[in-house]
Amino acid sequence: ILEMNHIKKSFGNNQVLKDISFSVDEGEVVSIIGPSGSGKSTLLRCATFLETMDDGSLSYVGDEVVKSVNGHAVYGSKQQQRKALSYFGLVFQNFNLFPHFTVMKNITDAPIRIQKRNVEEVNAQARKLLSQMGLSDKEDAYPSQLSGGQQQRVSIARALALNPKILFFDEPTSALDPELTLEILKVIKDLAAQRMTMVIVTHEMTFAHDVSNRMIFMDKGVIVENGTPDELFHSSNSRTQSFLGKYH
Ligand code: ATP
Ligand code: MG
Repeated sequence: ILEMNHIKKSFGNNQVLKDISFSVDEGEVVSIIGPSGSGKSTLLRCATFLETMDDGSLSYVGDEVVKSVNGHAVYGSKQQQRKALSYFGLVFQNFNLFPHFTVMKNITDAPIRIQKRNVEEVNAQARKLLSQMGLSDKEDAYPSQLSGGQQQRVSIARALALNPKILFFDEPTSALDPELTLEILKVIKDLAAQRMTMVIVTHEMTFAHDVSNRMIFMDKGVIVENGTPDELFHSSNSRTQSFLGKYH
């Protein structure tokens, strides 16, 4: 459903992504782990058009949105990019809710305004998502009136309201205390049980091991390892061992 080939990205002379290739199949949960500064967020940002890449190709559902031409990344038409935007949802570390919108409007704004869907249908879906997230009584609240865990559940509902084919998470729990972290990890586990395709950047190693079909270990802009959780946790690679060792 997602294919990234030979992605390269530099900031000035700092090469942050050095020839990254991987793919995600429908229904798969893939975790990306690695030290701070290894390029995990940059990779997600490239996959979701928040950042342009220098070289490489990117396809969603077999639709090539970015291709490599003579060593440069060439982006598809505006129309193709707009279509690609409907393929994924994104959940950030700091929730990134619109502070001046109610919970309901945070969730329904993009489906109504950008996807131009039917208002009644979108509202009904939003209420269903809020009920799934245990937030039915918070429809009219503003983000500042919610706990961090509640805000993060709203931001997951907002991403799901776009009916994405794949959901990206960038350290969804790192701004939360341990109790709220567990609450969000449970929401993500429930989504995995519903076979939602997900790519999750996380430092929660036990969670990543339990929820993922595959784990990718990145270090210094390269994929050091890409395998099942058990393969990574029993890896003979010294860099993988020393990184995971810090969490034991
Ligand atoms: P963390 O675990 O701390 O979130 P990360 O693996 O997500 O780390 P990135 O945020 O992708 O790492 O950063 C990788 C490198 O790219 C870092 O050296 C960072 O300083 C650099 N970098 C990221 N974004 C920019 C930017 N907009 N301009 C310049 N340098 C950047
Ligand atoms: Mg990051």
